[in-house]
Amino acid sequence: MTRHDLIIIGAGPGGYTAAIRAAQLGLNTACIEEVPALGGTCLRIGCIPSKALLESSELFREAREKFSGHGIVLPEVKLDVAALLRRKEQVVNTLTKGVDSLFRKNKITRYLGHGKITGPGRLLVENQQERIELEAKYILIATGSKSSGLPGVELDGDRVGTSTEALSYPEVPGHLVVIGAGYIGLELGSVWRRLGAKVTVLEFLNRILPGMDDEIAAEAKKIFERQGFEFRHGAKVTSAKVQGKQCVVEYEGGQPITCDRVLLAVGRAPNTDGLGLETVGIKPDEKGRIPVDDYFATSAQGIYAIGDVIRGPMLAHKAEEEGIACIEGIVTGYGHVNYDAIPGVVYTQPEIGSVGKTEEQLRDEKIEFRKGVFPFLANSRARTLGQTEGKIKILAHAKTDRILGVHIIGPRAGDLINEAAVAINFGASSEDLARSCHAHPTLGEALREAALAVDGRAINI
Ligand code: FAD
Ligand code: NAD
Repeated sequence: MTRHDLIIIGAGPGGYTAAIRAAQLGLNTACIEEVPALGGTCLRIGCIPSKALLESSELFREAREKFSGHGIVLPEVKLDVAALLRRKEQVVNTLTKGVDSLFRKNKITRYLGHGKITGPGRLLVENQQERIELEAKYILIATGSKSSGLPGVELDGDRVGTSTEALSYPEVPGHLVVIGAGYIGLELGSVWRRLGAKVTVLEFLNRILPGMDDEIAAEAKKIFERQGFEFRHGAKVTSAKVQGKQCVVEYEGGQPITCDRVLLAVGRAPNTDGLGLETVGIKPDEKGRIPVDDYFATSAQGIYAIGDVIRGPMLAHKAEEEGIACIEGIVTGYGHVNYDAIPGVVYTQPEIGSVGKTEEQLRDEKIEFRKGVFPFLANSRARTLGQTEGKIKILAHAKTDRILGVHIIGPRAGDLINEAAVAINFGASSEDLARSCHAHPTLGEALREAALAVDGRAINI
């Protein structure tokens, strides 16, 4: 029986970051991962491959639609889907191997196989060759999430599939039906739309991107429609299956759709399959998540959980923050995540970035606020980029001026939102942001202008 101070189950962004922090703090650390490549959903079949495809598809679109406007004249622009997929795989492989070397550098022991808790402080790793019994003072569950299914949708691992299949379609589908207008539906829908597919999005609600600020989501929808997305709302999908060479999707509120491929993207579910939680008395909540306290401790002594498998947004950087805070809490007695300052980004074109409270949340919570809005149309850098769609909205407390929420749709919103997250984390007021000099000409100036607009003092509008 091998013993470690800490054993982590799952080497996604939550688990691998926690492993490195634990090793830095002197714990004898091991990590069990059932897939040979480290990095979890994020690196293998999530954030990274999707962003690689978003980049390639956007370049393709720009080469076809934008280059000539810059005076760059190309011969016919052609698409090589196989090469595009190979590049994505290369990016993924480089990054997953990078985690391997970080594990070696930090002397983290790695076990390949399915990890299972067998009792307090005890685990079993199983793979095709062996069964390894382990003991640990602390166990950290970081097993992430998996795509949620939908009754009637018959996933065939190919044409009716999830995000995993949509990251590797071997050719551009003629017609792709996406079920769900959330992060995945819009990002992967964008990839295949830009590459030439007709994309129909079936969404249950009467809006896209639930949870995001209403005004920003409504603007996003108009922009995506201009890009050729077709949205059907109030669409409750009752079945989707392969029929001969085509797929057929049936939903309440409309005629069945015949298409080439179906992407099911209606959310993700915590992954606790075969984890042995019952052996230590941990009961998942009604959504299948592992309940934890503020220090990520479960109801079982010495067992902690972080990332997609617990409450909160299913985001890689949230999992990482929790991994670090959990380990620091174990070793030093203090670890903290500021959930008000966790940004969310949808990597469409334009990008959408959001941090803190939405207008709707502030109204519901009866918090008085002032709002400053600045459009990218009036930002000089956006003009030079030729990307003037969108705006920045800052919501600040009516009395204290403290920034409560920032919502951006526009060029590089995913980078801009980090400045807003830092401001919120430091408890900044909109006046603090307005009085911070921003380099010219940059997109960040639009953030400063939105902060000035909170007080009716924007300059360039
Ligand atoms: P995971 O990354 O899911 O890792 C869990 C790991 O545990 C996996 O490697 C799994 O194999 C392993 N495991 C599970 N059970 C066991 C077991 N019993 N034994 C051994 N190993 C086990 N988030 C963002 O912030 N930005 C993005 O741009 C983004 N894009 C995404 C795009 C897609 C298509 C998808 C699907 C997700 C995306 N996400 C994004 C979400 C992000 O991937 C997750 O929030 C993040 O990976 C969660 O990290 P985690 O460490 O909790 O779990
Ligand atoms: P999501 O929760 O973002 O969106 C799901 C959408 O499906 C919602 O709009 C919902 O109303 C709709 N829906 C639910 N049931 C439906 C039904 N029966 N018929 C039609 N529509 C239905 O989920 P997702 O897009 O699958 O992504 C899962 C999670 O992965 C996200 O919540 C996010 O946390 C993470 N993710 C993040 C990023 C990023 O950070 N850029 C990218 C991809 C995924």
